[in-house]
Amino acid sequence: MTTCKTGAEHVKSLKDGRTVYIDGNLVADVTKHPAFRNSVKSAAMLYDFQAKPENIDLMTFVPNGSNRRVNRSWQMPRNYGEMVQRRKAMQAWAALSYGFMGRSPDHLASALVGQRMGIEVFEKHGTERAKALRDYFEEASRNDYFLTYVIINPQAERAKDWGEQKEELVARIVDEDSGGITIRGAKMLGTSSIMANEVFVANLQPLKPGEEDLAFSCALPMNATGMRVLSRKSYEAAAVSIFDNPISSRFDENDALIYFEDVRVPWERVFVYRDADMCRAQFHDTPGHSYQNYQSQIRLSVKIKFLTGLAHRLTEAIGTTNIPSVREQLGYLAAQTSMVNAMMAGMEAEGSMRGEWYVPNKHFMYSAQVLTQDLYPRIVNTLRDLSGGALIMLPSSIHDFADPHIKRIIEVTQRAAKMASEEKVKFLKAAWDAIGSEFGSRHTQYEMFYAGARFVTSGHSYRTFDWDGATGMVDGLLNTYQLADELDRKVN
Ligand SMILES: Cc1cc2nc3c(=O)[nH]c(=O)nc-3n(C[C@H](O)[C@H](O)[C@H](O)COP(=O)(O)OP(=O)(O)OC[C@H]3O[C@@H](n4cnc5c(N)ncnc54)[C@H](O)[C@@H]3O)c2cc1C
Repeated sequence: MTTCKTGAEHVKSLKDGRTVYIDGNLVADVTKHPAFRNSVKSAAMLYDFQAKPENIDLMTFVPNGSNRRVNRSWQMPRNYGEMVQRRKAMQAWAALSYGFMGRSPDHLASALVGQRMGIEVFEKHGTERAKALRDYFEEASRNDYFLTYVIINPQAERAKDWGEQKEELVARIVDEDSGGITIRGAKMLGTSSIMANEVFVANLQPLKPGEEDLAFSCALPMNATGMRVLSRKSYEAAAVSIFDNPISSRFDENDALIYFEDVRVPWERVFVYRDADMCRAQFHDTPGHSYQNYQSQIRLSVKIKFLTGLAHRLTEAIGTTNIPSVREQLGYLAAQTSMVNAMMAGMEAEGSMRGEWYVPNKHFMYSAQVLTQDLYPRIVNTLRDLSGGALIMLPSSIHDFADPHIKRIIEVTQRAAKMASEEKVKFLKAAWDAIGSEFGSRHTQYEMFYAGARFVTSGHSYRTFDWDGATGMVDGLLNTYQLADELDRKVN
């Protein structure tokens, strides 16, 4: 008997009649379509990795009362040790895509773990809604679902409130009966939705009283009737070969607009119902937001280490490694990589108990978010700075190597002290794919925005900082001297 979910099982589960559109066409089978099939294989690789006998303990655990192992990201840590054990599994998964799969299944598992830890917040909202969340957590974790989420509204007219946007833009409740609610409108930007099993739909952006139609959260299978997935351009489809595009050809997790065309949601899957403040509370009064973004920082720590490795190899490719100013840039980069790791370790070490559960340090997590959304584009820029024209002076594709005459010219012009010509081209193509290609550029946008624009993340940092402690220190200093005392001393 299989002890946990495998890649084959996941691939099979995606042949479910979901409605995905790309380039004006309805996709018959995401597992076979040239825009998605390699990314689906990469998702399958995650499950195959966890199912390997040598990885099964690192990667999985048996939930209480279950006879099947599931990924550790569904585990609810009770102490620091369990949190670190869980993190090691997530790091191992992230390493398989070099950190380029931002919405691997552990992201949503983390969000739900955090929300489940704060079940009393849902109880306050309503016992039925709390039951729905509790039951859904059981279902999703026991089945090791790959979930994505759409919790952000399409921008449209950003200066207007969400409730004031044109009808059919922002997903809202348009009907309800004893069976459930009906929703209509859009949400963005379902990363990985083409290869997920289910989508969690919610509203993270602040709502006002009167916007109750928009104030809901729920979960739906990706093949829900009326749900349309509008994929962005596929970078995988545009990849020439693995040699030319080693990362985008395999790890283009995709992003998509999700449009709900009168989609029915049964009450058993409605977690927040017509309550603007509860939309906020489900993320912020539970450890949901902390846990989902802690996962993102774990993944980012892997990706930044990879980029730092790329930087070193870049200098080897063009022979600049030993130039003192280049070394200085590499040293600075290494320090930034270690800072991301140190922040991750800090979130864990300075975590605290919330009832029976251990949760990461919230302010450290928000600090990491603010700092890394700035850091990522700067790291990409450093890599560009270190490379000069090397990332561009490259053969157009593998086909150039097939012509002996062109191959010879490549051999003499792509020389490096530490790399053979073919090896150098192979490496530089990988570096460009990571940071300069359309795929690489999407990654910069992702790291800058996945957790919210700067004004949002800085707002979280502001809210969670120990201002009393900090300003108290200033007051402490000011209390150590008084003008009148100074004047007295001078006079006497
Ligand atoms: C690659 C990618 C993948 C994503 N994947 C997902 C996903 O899987 N699920 C999901 O739910 N979301 C996803 N998102 C959406 C992401 O969460 C949002 O992009 C993010 O929250 C920012 O919101 P926004 O795009 O509406 O930008 P906005 O909030 O509109 O911000 C854009 C810019 O407008 C300005 N601005 C707008 N409003 C204000 C204001 N009030 N005050 C000051 N400045 C303002 C700022 O300059 C800001 O930087 C993804 C985004 C990207 C880029």
